[in-house]
Amino acid sequence: MIGVIAEPAEHDVVREFFELFKTPWEFYRPGRRYEVALCAADLPLQADADLVVVYCGRRTHFDDERSTLLCAQPGIPNVLSFHEDSIPIYRNTVCFTGTRNSLLTLEASKECAAYLARNGASWFARVGYDLFAEVRALLTAGQPSAQAHLPTLDLHIAFLRQLIVGCGITVAEIPPVPEGFRFIVCLTHDVDHPSIREHKWDHTMLGFLYRALFGSLQNLVCGRISLRTLLTNWAAALKLPFVHLGIAKDFWRDFEEQYLALEYGLASTFFVIPFKNNPGLGMEGKAPRLRAATYGARDIADIISKLAAAGREVGLHGIDAWCDSEKGRLELEEVRQLTAASQIGVRMHWLYYGPQSPALLEKAGADYDSTVGYNEAVGYRAGTGQAYKPLDAERLLELPLHVMDTALFYGARMGLSRGEAKPILKQMIENAGRFGGCLTINWHDRSLAPERLWDASYLELLQELREQGAWFATAKHVVSWFRKRRSAVFEPDSLTPSAACVSLAPGDRKGVPGLRLRFHQGHTFGSFIEQDSGGMVDSPISENAGAVVPSEAGK
Ligand SMILES: [Zn+2]
Repeated sequence: MIGVIAEPAEHDVVREFFELFKTPWEFYRPGRRYEVALCAADLPLQADADLVVVYCGRRTHFDDERSTLLCAQPGIPNVLSFHEDSIPIYRNTVCFTGTRNSLLTLEASKECAAYLARNGASWFARVGYDLFAEVRALLTAGQPSAQAHLPTLDLHIAFLRQLIVGCGITVAEIPPVPEGFRFIVCLTHDVDHPSIREHKWDHTMLGFLYRALFGSLQNLVCGRISLRTLLTNWAAALKLPFVHLGIAKDFWRDFEEQYLALEYGLASTFFVIPFKNNPGLGMEGKAPRLRAATYGARDIADIISKLAAAGREVGLHGIDAWCDSEKGRLELEEVRQLTAASQIGVRMHWLYYGPQSPALLEKAGADYDSTVGYNEAVGYRAGTGQAYKPLDAERLLELPLHVMDTALFYGARMGLSRGEAKPILKQMIENAGRFGGCLTINWHDRSLAPERLWDASYLELLQELREQGAWFATAKHVVSWFRKRRSAVFEPDSLTPSAACVSLAPGDRKGVPGLRLRFHQGHTFGSFIEQDSGGMVDSPISENAGAVVPSEAGK
């Protein structure tokens, strides 16, 4: 059990952190004995604990004069080395000079940013940043795209867990990993352009022609696409007048058939735009005209029915829901009427989002949001693969978006070729296997058709994910699984180093896999340095009586 000492203003973020690091904890109660006392405030502390961890990015009364203060500048974090990993710190950092058992070092100067010391019979760890200020920064502003590739929040959890285990203390945890699988994959499709026939001499059509005719040629010359791709695009461009005349097939129209075929046996979620010809509101007044879609959800009612019949989820690709809860309510209602689903989730068109969005989306009645990601990069804006509750929300969960096709391949964004994208995606799949959580992917409706033809990359990605033992789920099911995990409570009196009793709140979670209880066996301090992930025992948590005592754990 961890006892946490934090300023009352930090209590909301402490609670959320321990939904993501799901381990027994409570706010510190004087007089109680804890295995770990986690102190995130500069308070005089006489904790009775095997390990006292002090997180603070300023000099505290725990420190002597040999600590130096560093401040992270906005957008330029202090980067700490944690074994092979890098943890960017966005707020204050302190370094400690002199010889220490260093746990973290500053990547640039190799100075010590966290150390471990003996304090009589117990351990004392001093970490030179404010954990909960970092978590708050990640869950609100998020990381700049230069750090997109780092699962920073998951690394904060990994560091704390390893520190505790390395001091010989066993950690019980409900990891963000569904029983029977290694991690979760959420395949999603933003439906922006379900028909090229609806685009006559507008920006989308001209952009299509330019990229199909000239962009493809340029890409062929640079060796980024094959001759076959070039010819397919040229043929599509030549066919376009006939598409408009209604003689040739609209090659953006049958995206749902193509995705259902590629994703055979898997689950996916399609986000559809509620109303046509409405660019909506931007950060400063009206959004650019270009943001308006040439279709509304009603125009593709037949496709929505087909997707629903195939077990796919249809959510809202919102226009104004991010900044106006009344408009958000109307947008959700439009999609709800077409899907007959009671709960509708949201991803905002062009990923529009602001600090007020979680509360507004919740007020509008959204079940979840899946907008927090990057337009220009792939990775972890909130630093995590886990669904989390934004700090202003009561119930709404955020399922962060990690990989978007246009971010990978568009010249003005990352501008990668299929071959260049592969190792980046592989690393993200590896991260999912290592930290659990969900890898959320967005491949747009028209990305399989000319002129994008990104079907081969998508197929390759699906193949890799199928082989990795992922649970493929709709966004709604992923969120439902995370809600189940959030509902789990450790019975405090049941905790021993090898068993725990967990109770789950009842809920309708059909088609959602179970939870597992994991014990990380404590070992000696030396192994912290070596990064030993062994000594881990998992057992499934049964849902029958709402409580379990895993019999095999820890043996
Ligand atoms: Zn969109």
